[in-house]
Amino acid sequence: MAETFKAILIDRDEDKKQSLSHADLTTDDLMDGDTIVRVTHSTVNYKDALAVTGKGPVIRRWPMIPGIDLAGEVVSCDTGVFKPGDKVILNGFGLGETHYGAYAGMARVKADWLIRQPETLSAAEAMSVGTAGYTAMLCVIALERHQITPDRGPVVVTGATGGVGSVATAILGKLGYHVIASTGRSEEADYLKSLGASEIIDRKELSEPGKPLGKERWAGGVDAVGSVTLANVLAQTKYGGAVACCGLAGGMDLPASVAPFILRGVSLLGIDSVMAPKSIRELAWQRIASDLDRSKLASITHEIAFSDIEQATSDLLAGKVRGRLVINIA
Ligand code: NDP
Repeated sequence: MAETFKAILIDRDEDKKQSLSHADLTTDDLMDGDTIVRVTHSTVNYKDALAVTGKGPVIRRWPMIPGIDLAGEVVSCDTGVFKPGDKVILNGFGLGETHYGAYAGMARVKADWLIRQPETLSAAEAMSVGTAGYTAMLCVIALERHQITPDRGPVVVTGATGGVGSVATAILGKLGYHVIASTGRSEEADYLKSLGASEIIDRKELSEPGKPLGKERWAGGVDAVGSVTLANVLAQTKYGGAVACCGLAGGMDLPASVAPFILRGVSLLGIDSVMAPKSIRELAWQRIASDLDRSKLASITHEIAFSDIEQATSDLLAGKVRGRLVINIA
């Protein structure tokens, strides 16, 4: 008899009302793909929270197993690229959006989407990093490619206590940058300093509409918030600086002017993790293995059980989660 495994299924009715159920599935129930992976760990990202709660249009095929990140072991691979037992990671590529995702004991996916787990990272650590942390690293790489080095001046990180923000703060701090962490949670100042922040600012400083050009405060930024916050970050970026834009926790709009671009030569660097090419993914994961302090990763991580996923998604959207959540699925 085929092995059964647990899964979360999200469906919606004719009135587009979303519902969540727990199901026991077999690999016959999974979608097409050339590689079967036994999922041991996953995580809860902002996007997962939007998908599970139905608060954002993440799911584009119904029903869907949510979960955009997985770590696990290959069971079989028709392409021969992976052997049974190989440890792998998958971030994005429509997982949990258009293709059955990580909140299940097994996944059938394409070998092309998989990255080999770096030897120095465990599956739990890889999911502690997850899409949020891997995106933080993509932002850091983008800033480096724009020659934003520590000697150019401070870098600001918005949404600093969140998943992207916490990992960005830890990586930039370790690389020697003077990190200015913007947060709405002043009580987390010590936490942010322990990760690597040199200064903490209240996110209110950036969330009210400001001037097209402000005092030059930072050489670069990692922005997970968008909207007015990103407009203000750009307006206060030094001449020739750059801001990596990856998130919309504060809104999808960008009420900015062209002034920082045409008067200070500031660059806005767009970051997408979902369809990023394999070469940059592999580079990002190698850099995570070398440039993210494992003890800091442990300090931002909280492990939860499969049965806690629903509650965790609501908590994350309510701003009650600090850092990163790891789900032990095995
Ligand atoms: P989290 O929810 O963990 O963190 C978001 C943080 O933003 C919060 O912790 C909070 O930080 C801050 N924040 C929340 N709401 C607001 C608000 N209304 N105004 C200002 N700040 C706010 O999410 P993640 O870190 O996982 O993701 C952050 C963003 O990045 C999301 O929009 C997500 O969709 C996006 N993202 C994009 C990716 C890409 O490929 N481009 C990949 C991964 C994530 P604090 O309390 O410290 O102020």
